Amino acid sequence: GSTIGILGGGQLGRMLSVAASRLGFRTHIFEPGAAPPAGHVADAVTTADYEDNAALKAFASACDIVTFEFENVPTSALDLIEAHVPIRPGREALRISQDRLTEKDFLRDLGLNVAPYADIPDRAALDAALAEIGTPSILKTRRFGYDGKGQARLRGPEDAAEAIEGMNGAPCVLEGFVDFSHEVSVIAARGTSGEVACFDPGENVHRDGILHTTTVPARLSAAQRTDAVLMAGKILNALDYVGVLGVELFVTTGGLIVNEIAPRVHNSGHWTQQGCSVDQFEQHIRAIAGWPLGDGSRHTDVVMENLIGHDMDRVPELARQKDVSLHLYGKADVKPGRKMGHFNRVMR
Ligand code: ATP
Ligand code: MG
Ligand code: MG
Repeated sequence: GSTIGILGGGQLGRMLSVAASRLGFRTHIFEPGAAPPAGHVADAVTTADYEDNAALKAFASACDIVTFEFENVPTSALDLIEAHVPIRPGREALRISQDRLTEKDFLRDLGLNVAPYADIPDRAALDAALAEIGTPSILKTRRFGYDGKGQARLRGPEDAAEAIEGMNGAPCVLEGFVDFSHEVSVIAARGTSGEVACFDPGENVHRDGILHTTTVPARLSAAQRTDAVLMAGKILNALDYVGVLGVELFVTTGGLIVNEIAPRVHNSGHWTQQGCSVDQFEQHIRAIAGWPLGDGSRHTDVVMENLIGHDMDRVPELARQKDVSLHLYGKADVKPGRKMGHFNRVMR
């Protein structure tokens, strides 16, 4: 059989590895950190950093295709890998989603609605942008933000100084605050032949900037559902994308607004493990391996809930519940804010 290389050994890499194994593939994880969660289930693991050219070369040579669970892989490492083996989804999707400014420009140029935004290289730019966009607004670092990290909310112009100082000189964007009723996401897939399949949109609730629950079906009208899926398809086609992509959307009275995209399997797609016969992880493996996409239609209502930090104390009780499927990541140390696992509650 062939070997799928996965850049990143966190829980997403772990669940991709399990799905790949189920389809008869071998997986090889490349992860800079020690004892990666995916290391427990993969066939091979390379624990080296992205500057280690010899390790990257050996990894790439051992794989037939390479994918990633993490969008911040340095360009130099990708260049080296790509000299040996194809990377799916492609470089363009990574380039665009690594930088919020590039991503916003891309989405706007596709004709999709995004929050009002401005490039903020420095304090003067922030003052100018505040005059245009106003408050409430959110200052976000262009790169490396996740789980609401690298963000500062501005209630009024008087918050500007503290917000920009907290960014320590990192280039930012300012976004106008979107008055949304709720948040949804579409997990979409595109195969090598260009076929597209979308999972049913999920409704997301965040707690302290971290995804707390995803509920399917989401509260959306038929028209909104169609819009959400068409937006995702447009993004996939524009990127000539192969694999699974997550699209986060705000629902407003004026229509759907795209918040951000993630060029990988997505936390808000974990419900598919119990809600569909082919989940997002298998769908991604099918797509990158050149298989036909699987049946991602939803056969049941599901609520996915993340287990963050000491939520792990709930596991013994959850393990007794009938409609609960547990997914634990095997992380040794429990830390506040750390994603330790999740569970899917099937609603019958
Ligand atoms: P993720 O973990 O999803 O990658 P992130 O750190 O990249 O998160 P965002 O998704 O940009 O951050 O923002 C986190 C949350 O903050 C959003 O899900 C939403 O609830 C809120 N938020 C972000 N931008 C806006 C906005 N422009 N208007 C209103 N709320 C916003
Ligand atoms: Mg994000
Ligand atoms: Mg987000």
